[in-house]
Amino acid sequence: MGTGRVELLQNPLVLTRSLRHPMPPRLYCDFSLRPDAMIALSDATAHHALRVLRLGLADEVVLFDGAGGEYAGHIAEIGRRCIVRTGSWSDIEREAAIAVTLAQCLASGEKMDWIVQKAVELGACRIVPLQSRRSVVRLDETRAARRVEHWRRLVLSSCEQCGRNRMPDIAPVAALPEFLAHSMQTAGLKLCLDPAAEQALGAVHAVAREITLLVGPEGGFDETETLIARQAGFAGVRLGARVLRTETAGCTALAGLLALAGDF
Ligand code: SAM
Repeated sequence: MGTGRVELLQNPLVLTRSLRHPMPPRLYCDFSLRPDAMIALSDATAHHALRVLRLGLADEVVLFDGAGGEYAGHIAEIGRRCIVRTGSWSDIEREAAIAVTLAQCLASGEKMDWIVQKAVELGACRIVPLQSRRSVVRLDETRAARRVEHWRRLVLSSCEQCGRNRMPDIAPVAALPEFLAHSMQTAGLKLCLDPAAEQALGAVHAVAREITLLVGPEGGFDETETLIARQAGFAGVRLGARVLRTETAGCTALAGLLALAGDF
C-alpha cells in the first residue's frame, strides 16, 4: 500500500477532502491570470467555489482564463473576497487534433443546451447556431442574444468540467442563407449532414485540419437549403442507415471525425 493511501486512511481531514474532490476543481476566471500571485475570484466564482463546491481554506484548485494553460493554486484567504494563491503556469493543451466548427440549426427546448455541452466536451472549437426554414424555434434579436449569453455560460462550465483551457466560441445566431453565403470564402473541409447523401462519413479520406459541420433542425433542411449548401461547397455525408435526432447527429459526426483524425 503506498504512503498516500496510508495517509488517507489515517487522516480523516485528507480522507474527507479527497472523497469530495479527488481532482482539484477547475475554476474559470474572466481576466488574465498570473503565476505566483494572490488572485481575487469574482463574486460569482467565489460563490461557486465556497457555496456550491464547499471549498475551504487551503483547498487546492486549478485556475484558467481561457487563453491556454492553467495554474495550480489553493484558497489562501476567505473574507470579503475569496483569494487564491497561484503557483506556476502549466502549458497544458487539451484541444482536439482538428478544429471543428459545428454549424447547428436551432433545435427546440433544451436540446441546444445539450448540444453545446456535448460539443464542447468532445472538442468543437466553434458553434454557430443557425435559424433555418424548418427550425421549430424562432428567436427575435433580444431572445437570440440572451440565448447566446446562456450558451456561453454553458461553454465555461463545460470547460471547467472537461479540462479544456481554451474557450470555444459561440457565434451570434445567424440565418442559414447568410451563413452559407459567408461560407463560400471559408477554407477547410465543409460537410453537410444529410441522411440521403451517398457518401458515408467514414469514407471521408482527407480529414482536413479545419472542418465545418452543418447539421439540420428536427425537420431537416428543405430542398433549397440543401442546394445552396452544395453550391457553398458543403459535401453531403450520411451517418449509417438510421435517421438520428438532430441533437444526436452533430455530436456523433464530431466524434466520428475525431476518430478519423486520430484524436480518439
Ligand atoms: N426527415 C429529416 C431529413 O430527412 O432530413 C430528418 C431530419 S434529422 C431528425 C435532423 C438532422 O440531423 C438532419 O437534417 C441531418 O442534418 C442530421 N441527420 C440525422 N440523421 C442523419 C444521418 N443518418 N445521416 C446524416 N445526417 C443525419
